[in-house]
Amino acid sequence: MQFCPKCGGLMLPKQIEKGPILVCNVCGYVMKEAKLDEYKVVKGAKPEEEITVVEKELKPALPTTRICCPKCGHDTAYWWLRQTRAADEATTRFYRCTKCGHTWREYT
Ligand SMILES: [Zn+2]
Ligand SMILES: [Zn+2]
Repeated sequence: MQFCPKCGGLMLPKQIEKGPILVCNVCGYVMKEAKLDEYKVVKGAKPEEEITVVEKELKPALPTTRICCPKCGHDTAYWWLRQTRAADEATTRFYRCTKCGHTWREYT
């Protein structure tokens, strides 16, 4: 943040042909040799935060169970249920190894 040396008002960044300048939003004082790095940093930080939030929502914590992974032999796997396309078919239970990520399914 930069403040006007004349009236103490907040300086706002503005883009003109010659480059970026800072203009006081109270009295209109123009600061030509503006350092806009800090404004760029603030602008760049926001999208990253949004992406982080979205990723958290897309990865809900799955319950785990003790089952032997057929690929690496690890004894714990995430599991979830999914109905297959045909309504009369049985619900399929899926497992994903917490160690190697191998996914397999079990018919119930
Ligand atoms: Zn001012
Ligand atoms: Zn495994």
